Amino acid sequence: MILGFDVGGSKISMFLSDRNGNILRRSRVRTPDFKRPEDLIEQLVTMSRDAEHAAASDIETVSVVFAGAVDGKRGIIRSSPNLFGGIEIPLSDILEDILKKTVYIENDATATAISEKIFGNGKAFSNFIYLTLSTGIGGGIFMNNRVYRGSLGMAGEFGHMVVDPQGPVCGCGRKGCFEAVAGGKAALKIMDRIKAYERSECLRQTPRENVEAKQIFECAEKGDPPCLEVVGELTKNMEEGVASLINIFDPEAVMVGGGLSNSKKLVYESIEKNSPSLLATMKRDVKFFRTSQVTVELSPMAVVLYEEEIPGFNIERIIKEMKERITVAREKRDGF
Ligand SMILES: [Zn+2]
Repeated sequence: MILGFDVGGSKISMFLSDRNGNILRRSRVRTPDFKRPEDLIEQLVTMSRDAEHAAASDIETVSVVFAGAVDGKRGIIRSSPNLFGGIEIPLSDILEDILKKTVYIENDATATAISEKIFGNGKAFSNFIYLTLSTGIGGGIFMNNRVYRGSLGMAGEFGHMVVDPQGPVCGCGRKGCFEAVAGGKAALKIMDRIKAYERSECLRQTPRENVEAKQIFECAEKGDPPCLEVVGELTKNMEEGVASLINIFDPEAVMVGGGLSNSKKLVYESIEKNSPSLLATMKRDVKFFRTSQVTVELSPMAVVLYEEEIPGFNIERIIKEMKERITVAREKRDGF
């Protein structure tokens, strides 16, 4: 059996699959109190043992997908801004010692790029990039049919490409990073600068301190003019950033994920339409795809399938199961 974890800033998702591609178990826990790396390790070990116990069968492989700077090749977390900061953690070795299983670890965006190749639209391409547009901006690179991790596993940090040296200060300390002008936090900064909150009846239904990018996008989707201005400026910055990435990587395709891209018309379609045309002097034929939730959720599994041949693993079956489970979860959440 294969156990997959997705460790984010505030939650851990887990699923257990057999070696044929049947999902046996799936769960999610909140992780508000991780003060030290030991807390995370303990949590992963407990969840692994519980899953093994419940399935009454041995887990052979564990795959951990992690939001932070991860050296997947060496199995090391180099830094994790959302959890422990700059502490280096040799997570693969530690978990292998405790659990006595093969352990893979990968950065979440790189893992999603791998998942695009194995489960998603990336199947059809040898060269593509994955871009996630959310509070932050991250990415993964697939080149010549192989994932590209860089020398230390840090490649694909698209969010920290400087696009405006005079721009706002980024979380990384530099000014005008792509993320600082086009990520979710940038939406709030633009809102303040152009006084969109004060001018927007729609936004003012939420107290100022509770406004996140999500509310700005929701109001913009309803046609609220000040919020449309914010999203318009943000999207322009996204288009510029994506155009530069196309210039650098010359990809066959760009896969776009992350919460902000759910705004299909305002964000995704604008990027698809306008980014390549910013490079008008060099004719490009880049295809765009939205990354599905199934592709994201299957990314820990994709890391294993990328590293190991598993005879008899049924990819279509696991996609179908995951789709059904996601639909059920969504219906439950929406109160059906
Ligand atoms: Zn930065």
